[in-house]
Amino acid sequence: MDRVKAKKHLGQHFLKDESIAKDIADTLTLQGYDKVLEIGPGMGVLTKYLLEKPVETYVIEIDTESVEYLTTHYPKLHGKIISEDFLRYNLNTVFGDAPLAIIGNFPYNISTQIVFRTLEMRDRIPEFAGMFQKEVAERICEKKGSKTYGILSVLAQAFYDAEYLFTVSEDVFIPPPKVKSGVLRLKRKENYHLPCDEKLFFAVVKTAFNQRRKTLRNSLKTYNLSDNLKEDSIFDLRPEQLSVEDFIVLTQKIAANGI
Ligand code: SAH
Repeated sequence: MDRVKAKKHLGQHFLKDESIAKDIADTLTLQGYDKVLEIGPGMGVLTKYLLEKPVETYVIEIDTESVEYLTTHYPKLHGKIISEDFLRYNLNTVFGDAPLAIIGNFPYNISTQIVFRTLEMRDRIPEFAGMFQKEVAERICEKKGSKTYGILSVLAQAFYDAEYLFTVSEDVFIPPPKVKSGVLRLKRKENYHLPCDEKLFFAVVKTAFNQRRKTLRNSLKTYNLSDNLKEDSIFDLRPEQLSVEDFIVLTQKIAANGI
C-alpha cells in the first residue's frame, strides 16, 4: 500500500488483512446474477479477490484519488470504474435493468443509507453482502424481541434472508475504526413481493419504531384507526414484539380500515 492518508469524512478504513478481504469476497453465492458492484473499493484490497470470481466486477468510488489509484493499478477494471457517489447514482446508467450483487467494506458513516438505497432497488439486487460496523450488521439480522430489533431489521428481512456471518476486529484496518465490524449476507427471498401495500408497510414500520416504547395503539394514531380496529389485540403490542409477518398483517389491517 503506497498511499494511506485516509479521509475520515469519507469513512475510509482500509483493510490491511488480505485474508479477511478474501473471506468477504467468498461470501458471494454467485447465484442469480453475473455482475457485482463493489461500493467504496478504496485501493482495491477486496476488488482484487472479486476479480478472480467468474462474474463481471464493477466498482463505484466517490474519492477521486482512490479512482486514480485503481485506474493505474487494476487494468482489469478498465471501463468498470464508476467515479460517483453510490447514494446519488442511478444504476440504470451503466447496468440497464440487469441484476447485480452489491458488496463492500462499506463506508460506515453512510451504512444505513446504503441499506435503505439497496432496499429501494431490491428488484435488481438479488444479493447484498459485506462489512458494516458490527452493531449495524447485527441490527439488520436481529429477530423480534431484542432491543436492537428495529426498522432496519424488519425492512431488510421482509425482502431478504439475512445472515450474520463473522466478526472482524479493529486491528485489521488502517486506520483502525473505534468499533468492531461484522460481515453479513442478504439473499433476496424467492418471493419477495409482500402480500400488502409495500409503501404503507414501510411507513407503518417506520412510524411504529419511531416511538418504540409506545404501544401501536398510540404510535399509529396518525392512521385514524377506527374504534373497531383499535380493539384488536395487536395494538396492545410494542413494535419490537412484532415479526415481519406480523407487520404485514398489521399493514393489511390498517389498509382495510381505510387510510
Ligand atoms: N474497500 C476498501 C475501502 C473501504 S473504506 C478497503 O476495504 O480497504 C470505504 C470506501 O468507501 C472509501 O474508499 C471511500 O472513499 C468510499 N466511499 C465513501 N462514501 C462513498 C459513497 N457515497 N459512494 C461511493 N464510495 C464511497
